[in-house]
Amino acid sequence: MKTVSSLLDDQWYERYRKISKLNIRSSIYDVTNRCNLRCKGCFFFSSGEHKVADEEMDLGRWEAFIDSEMARGVNLAILIGGEPTLCLDRVEAFYKRLPTFCATNGLIKVPRDRFPDMMIGISLWGSEEDERLLRGKDAFSISSKHYAGDPYTYYLYTITPKQIGKTERIIRKIRDVGLKVHMQLLSNDEGVDGFSWSPAELDAIRAEMDAMLDAIRRR
Ligand code: SF4
Repeated sequence: MKTVSSLLDDQWYERYRKISKLNIRSSIYDVTNRCNLRCKGCFFFSSGEHKVADEEMDLGRWEAFIDSEMARGVNLAILIGGEPTLCLDRVEAFYKRLPTFCATNGLIKVPRDRFPDMMIGISLWGSEEDERLLRGKDAFSISSKHYAGDPYTYYLYTITPKQIGKTERIIRKIRDVGLKVHMQLLSNDEGVDGFSWSPAELDAIRAEMDAMLDAIRRR
């Protein structure tokens, strides 16, 4: 049997132990069925999740629901969608009650006077060209202006096979606006041509990410 300690070196295992002691009991909420983008390969829309239930419009019912979630032990709310920032009153209902993380495409700026320390993850789907192709616009050029230097914000960078050999430039772009980054691979659920991973491409991106981590550690 593989244990966590057998998969991590000492430093990462210590980090894992500290995080596991926090006793985080998170739950993920679709705040809305709507979005101001329509990205190709978006899991929410391609899986039909936006049609599973009618959108709850009554704020009082949202508040009662959040209270019941807390009563069952949830201590971290992860807000996704659709685009949560289209419904800031619902986001605020969560934020006022418990630690909250909001995933967004960054096109609408979350007002920091209303949400001073809410964690925000901005989705990024690659280079300017990739974002135009997959999302219809270069979302980074807008989101980076909204959140530059924000200590509670980071980019959720979705890497596609087209990014091989280009990730370092994107990471530097993120660093240059004073933000952190979390990387993940596009699963290409809608089968957009040229965006599915081959085994060789997966090997190549793994090597590229390892080299980048080593280079950053050396600095
Ligand atoms: S911004 Fe997010 S929720 Fe909206 S279409 Fe794109 S991936 Fe889907």
